[in-house]
Amino acid sequence: MATSDVSGLDVEAIREDFPILDRKIGGDVTVPGPDEGDDKPLYYLDNAATSHTPRQVVEAMTEYYYEYNSNVHRGIHSLSQEASVAYEQAHDRVAEFIGADGREEIVFTKNTTEAFNLLAYTWGLTELEPGQNVVTTQMEHHASLVTWQQLCEKQGAEVRYVEIDDDGRLDMDDFRAKVDDDTAMVSAVHVSNTLGTVNPVTEITEIAHEHGALSFIDGAQAVPTRPVDVAEIDADFYAFSGHKMLGPTGIGVLYGKRDLLEDLPPFLVGGSMIRRVEFEGATWEDLPWKFEAGTPPIAEAIGLTAAIDYLEDVGMEAIERREWELASYAYERLNEFDDIEIYGPETDRGGLVSFNLEGVHAHDLSSILDDHGVAVRAGDHCTQPLHDVLDVPASTRASFYLYNTTDEIDELIEAVDTARQLFA
Ligand code: PLP
Repeated sequence: MATSDVSGLDVEAIREDFPILDRKIGGDVTVPGPDEGDDKPLYYLDNAATSHTPRQVVEAMTEYYYEYNSNVHRGIHSLSQEASVAYEQAHDRVAEFIGADGREEIVFTKNTTEAFNLLAYTWGLTELEPGQNVVTTQMEHHASLVTWQQLCEKQGAEVRYVEIDDDGRLDMDDFRAKVDDDTAMVSAVHVSNTLGTVNPVTEITEIAHEHGALSFIDGAQAVPTRPVDVAEIDADFYAFSGHKMLGPTGIGVLYGKRDLLEDLPPFLVGGSMIRRVEFEGATWEDLPWKFEAGTPPIAEAIGLTAAIDYLEDVGMEAIERREWELASYAYERLNEFDDIEIYGPETDRGGLVSFNLEGVHAHDLSSILDDHGVAVRAGDHCTQPLHDVLDVPASTRASFYLYNTTDEIDELIEAVDTARQLFA
């Protein structure tokens, strides 16, 4: 389990930074935290839902609360200035991490879902016209899919869904066929949270631009697990969540090209996002503050900065290789059994594998896995329409991150075998 061959990561050393990985489970789950009934090791394979938090991130947030907790952009006093600097620099750090052109292009939201809603309420309600269309795909997360559905219903526009092929990849011919000169927005997930498919987002953005449409890429599963450069993709908008990349909950990012964000009206209004308010009306702050109304997620932004530092110290290329290594191993092991159906492509996949065990509902399977200390996600993973396409009500998803080991995948396989015996 020590050093991984392919990625070169010292997984054992990494695991020491994550105290939660030492937790035992099995006791009373109605009371948060460990209890005396806890007796099984935890095998945490639910990283696509949320990742764990290393000491370094918790310590950065603790330091903020203990040493310079204060509101930002409001006080002249020292603590407020220190907090403001840290909060502003967090935007710079994110911009640098994803190849954006400065803090003006980085808007902090609550999560990826809010980033989609922000764009729908600002761009969508002002720019999308009746008769136009939004092209998205069958493999989108509800955060994207439902947002576009609701927006198009309000605006009298159409949503089009690009189909997937039998391997769980996008049918790019269908993509080209569905985008036309009435397309205003093309929106696709970078790495599917259910199929693991890595989509050709640069090509997708090119198709959008050929027709004068904008592109919005959902990077919730991509930014945590691979190097992402928004400039290289040429995405107009790109979103992701802090809690899936070793950061805290409560913070997400909407990247937008500066000139596009400049032209949008604000989303939420109130304090912090205004330049001047009179009884007759108000004017807005510069980017990105125009989109960050009220007291923002200060501690969370500081935590996100520390998470990025951690990821970069380990190296995003190495993390990508490690994801591939773990996903390939899981795919191979699950594929040994005829009664297991795996969804998504065999190659070029992100670090997750969704599957079903014949004759066992995903919820039952996941509950048996939990009895073995194996934490996975069961259900539709917020991709119900995709499960309709796959023609299954639900699936079980094992998802990996830099601290996971192949031993944990072996535990998963053993626990699946117990379920097999129980339901035989
Ligand atoms: N998009 C994808 C691909 C996801 O995997 C998720 C989370 O599971 C989301 C969007 C929504 O993220 P959040 O719940 O942090 O808003």
